[in-house]
Amino acid sequence: MVKAFYPNKMNMKFILSSITFSLIAFTTLAQDLPELMEMEPAMTEIWEPEVKSIAPGEKYGDVPSDAIVLFDGSNLDEWTNDSVGEAHWSVENGTVTASRMSEGLTGNSGIRTKRQFGSVQMHIEWLIQTDDTGTNQKPGNSGVIFSDGRYEVQILESYYNRTYRDGQAASLYKQSAPLVNASKKPGEWQSYDIIFMQPHFKKDGSYLVPPKITVLHNGILVQNAVELRGPTVYIGMPEYQIEKHGPGSISLQYHGNPVNYRNIWVREL
Ligand code: MG
Repeated sequence: MVKAFYPNKMNMKFILSSITFSLIAFTTLAQDLPELMEMEPAMTEIWEPEVKSIAPGEKYGDVPSDAIVLFDGSNLDEWTNDSVGEAHWSVENGTVTASRMSEGLTGNSGIRTKRQFGSVQMHIEWLIQTDDTGTNQKPGNSGVIFSDGRYEVQILESYYNRTYRDGQAASLYKQSAPLVNASKKPGEWQSYDIIFMQPHFKKDGSYLVPPKITVLHNGILVQNAVELRGPTVYIGMPEYQIEKHGPGSISLQYHGNPVNYRNIWVREL
């Protein structure tokens, strides 16, 4: 580090005594002073600790070296049923399909991760089947839900199908419409890259820092660090809750539609 020159009693005495010997020397020193007080480039260079290197994938969506793979096309080992038992969605040809639990079993038919996650970057690819028809909130309805079922990023057929803007694909359900509609047609694979920042709480359980979500839909920024007003609700206004929660599971919603998924991974932040 470069030590700056600050005049004090001692060195000012020295300077003053120097004046008596050489007026020229004083002039030179006075000219140099402002230069000595200036910042050096190195003063704002931070070298340690070195930024960790990771290997990104070869192409968009490939798994980076520090990711946790939640679904690689082969099995649902990382998942469980949302309410009871094993994850029951069917895995075939490298994709997993949302489906209802078998006869006799009741409860939520979504699936959720066995692991608990706080803030994450998530990549997920999904496809609405071409024969999955209907209107409004019907075709292709599913969703990616963070923090044990609290905060939903909507999945829906929104290429042909019109619905309320805060409920279409890539909306933060009933809280924030996407900036643009980047939907592809049914039958085409789509992607979400989601950055979920978990909330921090005050002592009384209200948000100190609300949860924040950023979404890229098919590579297009559609939610830009949007602060949530509370957990997703279907009826009524979302409200800040008096309810502290830590890391939680990530779930995929079952809403009666056979949505396909593949290539799901997260990076913990
Ligand atoms: Mg949904």
